[in-house]
Amino acid sequence: MHQTVEAANGVQIPQLGFGVYKIQKGAVFDRSVEAAIQSGYRHFDTAKIYGNEEALGSVLHRSGIPRAEFFITSKVWTTDLGYHATKKAFEQTLRKLNVTYLDMYLIHFAGPRYEEAWAAMEELYSEGRIRVIGTANFEMEHLEHLKKNACIPPMINQIETHPEFQQRELHEYMVRHRILHEAWGPLGQGNKTLLEHPVLVGMASKYRKSVAQIILRWHMNRGVIVIPKSSNIQRIKENSEIFDFDLTEEEMEHIRQLDTGTRYSVNPTGYMVNP
Ligand code: NAD
Repeated sequence: MHQTVEAANGVQIPQLGFGVYKIQKGAVFDRSVEAAIQSGYRHFDTAKIYGNEEALGSVLHRSGIPRAEFFITSKVWTTDLGYHATKKAFEQTLRKLNVTYLDMYLIHFAGPRYEEAWAAMEELYSEGRIRVIGTANFEMEHLEHLKKNACIPPMINQIETHPEFQQRELHEYMVRHRILHEAWGPLGQGNKTLLEHPVLVGMASKYRKSVAQIILRWHMNRGVIVIPKSSNIQRIKENSEIFDFDLTEEEMEHIRQLDTGTRYSVNPTGYMVNP
């Protein structure tokens, strides 16, 4: 459960986290995060745009678990890109989460002025206020641009990834440059084509696991960080029970062949133009 991957600066990131995008606010939200903590998750992924930083912060505080045991990620939204705006957005995020530092802060999309936002993040990182800085939805060209022009290259990039959209080229690029790969939508956002895929169903029955567990195991074996979301207590637990079995090389290869290049979500470029 506490398996980690190491960022380029040596920080250990729990490879399994809990995403909180679109979990219904109020009792459902609180119950879901409590169930995740109960199941052993310590890594939580939110963003300003999700509108639930405050709710997440308050459940984490109420748990009584020391802050240092949690790994908390948030993201700067497109409208807050730019040097001063990003610094301001960061302070607001800290206030909402009721914490004094973030484990990870990401630029949510490569919108206009992302370079200036990155400069602000580099400073916050150097001041010890963020442990890992990175990006989300960045293409290779954006990563290359920062690598060439910034002082600190991104340590992680969070991108849509699942067996039907494996991002193989970008993955290999990131491995080469020590940029960790984090998958959003690791379960294809619950899409049935994926969750009922006969190849995955076959593996699930072999291991007496669910297809979701097979997919999460595949991500782990690829060295990818996953943050599956659910508000169903049974599934929250199920998604954490992926450390007691393994896939063979051959099964990894079978899943590799399922890549059809199908996104289950909108192309992030859409957000950049029209957030
Ligand atoms: P996901 O792939 O985690 O899918 C979640 C959906 O899958 C659930 O709503 C449910 O319908 C289904 N599901 C979950 N567990 C299941 C199980 N065990 N069996 C069957 N179905 C199951 O998709 P997501 O929520 O979009 O992505 C996860 C997290 O990634 C988000 O919560 C958020 O934190 C982050 N995210 C980031 C971005 C970005 O632009 N950076 C975009 C989307 C999501």
